[in-house]
Amino acid sequence: MKFSYKILLCSLITMAAAFGIGGYFFVNDVFKASLEREIKQATDDSSIMKFAFETAALNIPSKYDMLQNSVIGEIGANLENSGQGSRRLLRLSDENREVLYASEGFVEDTALLADIEDQVRAYQIIHPDQHYYVQTGIMVNALDRALYLETMKDVTEVYAERTRGFAVYRGLMLLILVCSSVVMYFFSYWLTKPIRILTQATKKMIAGDYSYQAEQISNDEMGQLTTDFNHMAKVVEENIHKLEEELRAREDFIAAFSHELKTPLTAVIGYADMLRSRKLDDEKQFLSANYIYTEGKRLETMSLRLLDIIVTKRYQHEPQDMDVAELFCYLQDFYAEKKDIEVTVRYEPGRVRAEGNLLKSVLLNLTDNACKASDPGSTVEITGENRDGGYWFAVRDQGTGIMPEECRKITEAFYMVDKSRSRSHNGAGLGLALCVEILNLHGSSLEIESTPGEGSCFRFFIAGGKHL
Ligand code: ADP
Repeated sequence: MKFSYKILLCSLITMAAAFGIGGYFFVNDVFKASLEREIKQATDDSSIMKFAFETAALNIPSKYDMLQNSVIGEIGANLENSGQGSRRLLRLSDENREVLYASEGFVEDTALLADIEDQVRAYQIIHPDQHYYVQTGIMVNALDRALYLETMKDVTEVYAERTRGFAVYRGLMLLILVCSSVVMYFFSYWLTKPIRILTQATKKMIAGDYSYQAEQISNDEMGQLTTDFNHMAKVVEENIHKLEEELRAREDFIAAFSHELKTPLTAVIGYADMLRSRKLDDEKQFLSANYIYTEGKRLETMSLRLLDIIVTKRYQHEPQDMDVAELFCYLQDFYAEKKDIEVTVRYEPGRVRAEGNLLKSVLLNLTDNACKASDPGSTVEITGENRDGGYWFAVRDQGTGIMPEECRKITEAFYMVDKSRSRSHNGAGLGLALCVEILNLHGSSLEIESTPGEGSCFRFFIAGGKHL
């Protein structure tokens, strides 16, 4: 069942119950008030008749020293016909509760008669022959006799009023329910509009349209739900884009990897085939074997670098406080023997929170790249300074420099600006990718500044350690 129909049904059931119970109590209250009025009137009438009877008895000639049963009957008959317009129903009984006089149609039931006591007015509702009556009973003291006077007042109309009241109320309730169900239908349709909008937005998302934004038509909880839904759709869209980009990068990586693998392998297979199938002179044999060796070495370097990247990605980083002097002294010693290019080291004393070996690997990669890009006789400078609450490392060269559009790409795996130059230096375009992974582990990134023909500067920041 549709949600709007459920709202409609629930409202109608609530309304029907409320109107039904309310109406029942209302009609019944009116009925009770009318019945009480009738009962009061009946008992008042009964008192008046008692008084009338006693007065009539006093006017009986004094020759009768006692009120005869026949006289009582006569007085009763007179009282019965003395009502204005209508005949009164009454019954008179003697001291032994034996009936002396009863109007025609008076009930034969004597239950009330047995209950009448002195000074007490008794009454009951009786229901003979489809009619309702208020039956009253009172004691009458006339001369020396104690008699019982009972009356009957027809209240059928009060009961009929109640039945009519219920019928009218039922009809009215039905009419109200029909009218309100029409109004409620439009209300529930309007109330559930945000749900329909969200359903449509969900369908759009299922169909792949993540940029679809559901229209917000209210500021209540449903409006908030729509805002949250739109926010969720945006986050999902962003995540999907991220995943797509990651997938594309992975595909690019696999394509570049297979390409980088294929080139040396083709050469290795070609030269190996030549060596085994032909008799070559010593020089050609050496050249072929040397080619196989160099390409094999390149493959080895590439696989080691790849392994480094993979290991770094999965590495459980445990940074330690370390003195930067350790690093710079190592680099100074490492490049001390380099003849063609002068590598200088200049640094401020400081401490960093890092993994020493990984940081060493970054600086070695950057310095190697700087040397490869520099002409013989030029200088490569490695510097370090305390700044911004941490430590900045930088490697500067006066080499070839990099074009601005290349700067963004050189950190991608297998990307080489000058492939033949890189390959001649055993490069596979993986060094900077490894540096980026290591710096990521340290919560840092690589900043590149370069001017083609003038040189480049690669720098990065590492959080400071505790000063001892
Ligand atoms: P490779 O192992 O080939 O050196 P890298 O990832 O270290 O791979 O470097 C990617 C490319 O970036 C290199 O092929 C090189 O062309 C370029 N490059 C890196 N450092 C420098 C630099 N200091 N000056 C000019 N070009 C550079």
